[in-house]
Amino acid sequence: MFNLILFGPPGSGKGTQSEKLISRYGLRHLSTGDLLRSEISKQTSLGLAAKNFMDKGQLVPDEVVIGMISSSLDENPDAKGFLFDGFPRTSAQAEALDKLLQLKKQQIAVMLALDVSEEELVKRLIKRGETSGRSDDTNEQIIRARINEYRSKTAMVADYYSQFNKVVMVKGEGSIDEIFESLCREIDSRL
Ligand code: AMP
Repeated sequence: MFNLILFGPPGSGKGTQSEKLISRYGLRHLSTGDLLRSEISKQTSLGLAAKNFMDKGQLVPDEVVIGMISSSLDENPDAKGFLFDGFPRTSAQAEALDKLLQLKKQQIAVMLALDVSEEELVKRLIKRGETSGRSDDTNEQIIRARINEYRSKTAMVADYYSQFNKVVMVKGEGSIDEIFESLCREIDSRL
């Protein structure tokens, strides 16, 4: 099994690259943002509660996303591996993920961290907002709040995996295919 975390701030290209990576490597894509948006569209109580945080650009409480990931892991016992996208986003989530994987005698192989300048992030997110239908992409104030949440709560998740030498920085600017090839090189060298 090969478990990978694709890491980076909002707008760094995690979703785009995840789609390409799961099709090349046959991994199961677990995006907490996608799972939450699906709960919102089904109007579940979890979705409605999460929406209040997401609309403000704030992180949803840890126990909510950890519960979703735990269920997803249990629902996919035959997966060749998981690609975690947008999770973990706090140190508590990282520690919980390690415990969940340990119970299944699994671990994270590598965290690939996409590096993109803040100017480029805001530009990309505003552009994405024109077509994504995501309300949190259309307002610059919410975009900046999401980047601030990333800086204050999420960036340190890379430090957590650094202690185990599992973090690799990858340049997240350039063409989609160039970035994809850089990610593939890192994965191939670890398979
Ligand atoms: P994303 O699609 O990954 O950009 O996530 C969209 C929004 O969903 C974020 O701004 C958060 O409000 C929420 N969210 C997604 N993943 C997480 C997570 N791992 N922890 C907390 N909140 C999350």
